Amino acid sequence: MFDKILIANRGEIALRVIRACREMGIASVAVHSTADADAMHVRMADETICIGPAPSTDSYLSVAAIISACEVSGAQAIHPGYGFLSENARFVQAVEDHGLTFIGPSAAHISEMGDKITAKETAKALGIPVVPGSEGGVATLEEAKIIGAEFGYPVIIKATAGGGGRGMKVAKSEAEMERAFQTARAESKAAFGNDEVYIEKYLQKPRHIEVQVFGDGQGGGVHLGERDCSLQRRHQKVFEEAPGPSISAEERAEIGSICANAIARMGYSGAGTIEFLYEDGGFYFIEMNTRLQVEHPVTEAIFGQDLVREQIRVAAGMPLSFRQEDLEINGHAIEVRINAEKLPNFSPSPGRISQYHAPGGLGVRMDSALYDGYRIPPYYDSLIGKLIVHGRDRTEALARLNRALGELIVDGVDTTIPLFGALLQEPDIHSGNYTIHWLEKWLEAGGVDR
Ligand code: ADP
Repeated sequence: MFDKILIANRGEIALRVIRACREMGIASVAVHSTADADAMHVRMADETICIGPAPSTDSYLSVAAIISACEVSGAQAIHPGYGFLSENARFVQAVEDHGLTFIGPSAAHISEMGDKITAKETAKALGIPVVPGSEGGVATLEEAKIIGAEFGYPVIIKATAGGGGRGMKVAKSEAEMERAFQTARAESKAAFGNDEVYIEKYLQKPRHIEVQVFGDGQGGGVHLGERDCSLQRRHQKVFEEAPGPSISAEERAEIGSICANAIARMGYSGAGTIEFLYEDGGFYFIEMNTRLQVEHPVTEAIFGQDLVREQIRVAAGMPLSFRQEDLEINGHAIEVRINAEKLPNFSPSPGRISQYHAPGGLGVRMDSALYDGYRIPPYYDSLIGKLIVHGRDRTEALARLNRALGELIVDGVDTTIPLFGALLQEPDIHSGNYTIHWLEKWLEAGGVDR
């Protein structure tokens, strides 16, 4: 096992990793930009190193600065958290070239899932169901129209290099194809320097269902069920739950074993998430994230497993500490993402926290790097906390969420906390009846102002 781990991240996820290290008796090294000198992860780690100025390109995204920090501190392994360098194959290669261990999959597995056409082809070859669509890239408008006619409208044109919902356009009919095709290519060129696009059938009322997987790197793999993350704004998740309210035990076992077998065959190592759109009982692969997800705590809650500890163990060459048959779902968990943003437009709201009080009690977990007097810097993601509740069933989890939100105090900046109070008034949230379009439609109808 490692003696010392460097955490190449900040905020709540850096604390999350420090906590796992401490329970495992491993020393932690925090890195930080000059803007984060007073951050909680810097206060909580065993050692700290300043790696550069405020802009993340010069600090949290600087491969050279992070590898030097690792060498100076004597850490043997790097945990990347999520975002920043967590899915950067070049970084992983550099880590390995310096004789250090990356806590995550190999550079080759990250690259394979980084390009969307390759990811889809790999998924298909591994027996994972995918959205019907073009075989690979589509170069001309004529070809695009042939595919539109073959699969039937509406279709979605997506950037091969895509991410963050950019470079995606829907064509509802052949008449809309020319515009959608050219716009998707132009957007993709501008955002990613690559205008290759591919085409898929556009699903009209899907849910977002993602399967948590773990590979031991030796040809073994397990799944830890699914999360439903359908409540999204601009493709950003805001409310996540496990298990998925629309998924039956049979469906879970079936898609779960397809995913577990796939990662076993890949020889995948560590945590991963296979994301699907789910409609009318069918699962359709959209992408795989080769890292820990923001919403991993809902899975931890229902399985009673520490996924970060497991990541560290697997990276150190140890076997998985659970077998598929040991994993049993207990109750229901919900996470809400609290952002420093002003409603109803979700505009960033950095600033000083005048008062912070975290909720507590049975089944309540608050993952946050806030403290009284903390100044949220304007340079990074607006996520400032995750409130996770766990109950014996979904009804209890929702009641607990309502109770915990009532205890939570974040004063001094605007936050998305009122959004969740408003959502809890909605019958659709209580019945679990929502698709990936529900939240946007509700917001457009003034849901949050009511
Ligand atoms: P990105 O990596 O840019 O986030 P994804 O492929 O993960 O792109 O898709 C992001 C979102 O776009 C999905 O969660 C879904 O809301 C929508 N989407 C993508 N593909 C389809 C499709 N074939 N049909 C309907 N919606 C889709």
